[in-house]
Amino acid sequence: MYKPIKLPYSYSALEPYIDSETMNVHYNKHYMTYIKNVNDEFEKENLEYLPIEQLINNIEDFSESIRNNAGGYYNHSLFWCMLRPNTNNSDNDPTGLVKTVINRDFGSYKNFKIIIEKYAKKRFGSGWVWWVILPNGKTRILELPYQDNPKMYFDCDILLGVDVWEHAYYLKYKSDRASYVSNLFKIINWEYINNILSKYY
Ligand code: MN
Repeated sequence: MYKPIKLPYSYSALEPYIDSETMNVHYNKHYMTYIKNVNDEFEKENLEYLPIEQLINNIEDFSESIRNNAGGYYNHSLFWCMLRPNTNNSDNDPTGLVKTVINRDFGSYKNFKIIIEKYAKKRFGSGWVWWVILPNGKTRILELPYQDNPKMYFDCDILLGVDVWEHAYYLKYKSDRASYVSNLFKIINWEYINNILSKYY
């Protein structure tokens, strides 16, 4: 059985950038439903449970429903950890390794944000913007539809995922995806990303 990860903060902890109600619905309804659906499929098909990352890496061997729901499970499990509270409304600029890598691959943090925002706008309908690191240590930004994860397509580690499904922002931001994405930079957990980068450098 696939199990939810515990939310590393309270539902209201990411306010004012993500409101408590959105967090509650996102975690308890959307996330939990992906997990229930993927478990139901595994039971129904009598499949052997693989570690979730292994399932994602081999997703072509599974049904469309498992792809969508396992993706939803895996992506959100990452997403919760990629965010952190910012109670004093600090700039939350990247520090350490992640700052170095952003400057190397995108010129500046300002430009990095512009590119993420551009990809968020480009994604028509539901999906995610991803920042990934390749086995050679280079990083790249891309966007994918639905609950697809870059690991379904190529070998990489996920540094950052930005959920641009309407359910992630609509209660607070209505159709203003751009403001949601721009505000998300205030609560990115750079420590989490630095931890992944430290395996490469
Ligand atoms: Mn979501």
